[in-house]
Amino acid sequence: MKVLITGGAGFIGSALIRHLVAHTPHRIVNVDALTYAGNLESLESVTGEPRYAFEHLNICDAQGLARVFAQHKPDAVMHLAAESHVDRSIDGPSAFIQTNVVGTATLLEAARHYWLTLSPSARSAFRFHHISTDEVYGDLAGTTDLFTETTAYAPSSPYSASKAASDHLVRAWHRTYGLPTLITNCSNNYGPYHFPEKLIPLVILNALEGQPLPVYGAGLQVRDWLYVEDHARALQCVLETGVPGETYNIGGHNEQRNIDVVQSICTLLEELAPMHPARVAHYADLITHVTDRPGHDARYAIDAGKIGRELGWAPQETFASGLRKTVQWYLTHRTWCRRVQNGSYQRERLGLHDDAPCRH
Ligand code: NAD
Repeated sequence: MKVLITGGAGFIGSALIRHLVAHTPHRIVNVDALTYAGNLESLESVTGEPRYAFEHLNICDAQGLARVFAQHKPDAVMHLAAESHVDRSIDGPSAFIQTNVVGTATLLEAARHYWLTLSPSARSAFRFHHISTDEVYGDLAGTTDLFTETTAYAPSSPYSASKAASDHLVRAWHRTYGLPTLITNCSNNYGPYHFPEKLIPLVILNALEGQPLPVYGAGLQVRDWLYVEDHARALQCVLETGVPGETYNIGGHNEQRNIDVVQSICTLLEELAPMHPARVAHYADLITHVTDRPGHDARYAIDAGKIGRELGWAPQETFASGLRKTVQWYLTHRTWCRRVQNGSYQRERLGLHDDAPCRH
């Protein structure tokens, strides 16, 4: 298969590309606008691989997309390009509407026009796989309830509302035009190459630098965590064996309170990096409670039974094994982290000098 992946320079997209190149014969075309979240240094292991090509392109660019579809003739699209950080969506929602809603509609139209040019057999084999989030379901009030594929959408943040809108567009393109779509809604991911604005990498790197470890409110929000390589395996499984028109929830069966995640990272660092930053006796002493995020959802938890029953996928990592691998990765990839933290991963791409300011 030739797979056109959008957002392949991001956290999950780069894990997916590394996984597909290492474990399948598929050819990959990575379409990415390289926003602050896109980092080609996360794809160094596949650069130069003949089965991998990169197209620097915004998914809102209809003409550019038409050219990419005509040139590369993909058998499938895996759509991950998005603005993905909830806090940024609260500060400035417009970019989220533009990329997540308008961009998805533009991509759907480009895919549909290309799909209509295919032979009947290629048309029925074609797949448009939309990668979404469990945040579209909103908040779970009860302590034992789980999101299923039929849970009503009730997004809380501009981010989750824009992702919910994109899911509806994809479903409509299937129902109205017959485009063979797949939708997956996944829980919180963590693992290597995660941009350090997100909780787990932020806590690891701040701890190593002796900086405060910010925890929203009392840290009692519950999230269901999935190791990113388990997500990549699930996405491959859905792409290859999922039924068009269907939605699959993906989750790790790993519900954790935010405060417990931060405590677990501190405990791992005590073992793996025992040289504390000078100011504190224990990493946990750096935990700092900060004002809660407006509209913060209390609990997400996903029922991933359908993908297990129907497609045979199950996560390989527990939270303990995945978190240990993640902490070890950040300890051994300090150059990648430093270049993200000081902005040089972007500066070189933009042709700026080392001392030029770089916008994040
Ligand atoms: P990310 O922010 O790390 O990466 C997003 C990528 O998309 C970047 O490479 C960026 O350059 C690119 N991009 C952004 N706007 C673009 C545009 N207009 N045109 C082309 N490329 C553009 O995101 P992520 O965490 O890897 O998430 C990937 C997808 O998975 C998103 O759709 C997100 O909603 C979904 N998701 C994420 C999580 C999670 O925990 N991170 C969980 C479930 C679902």
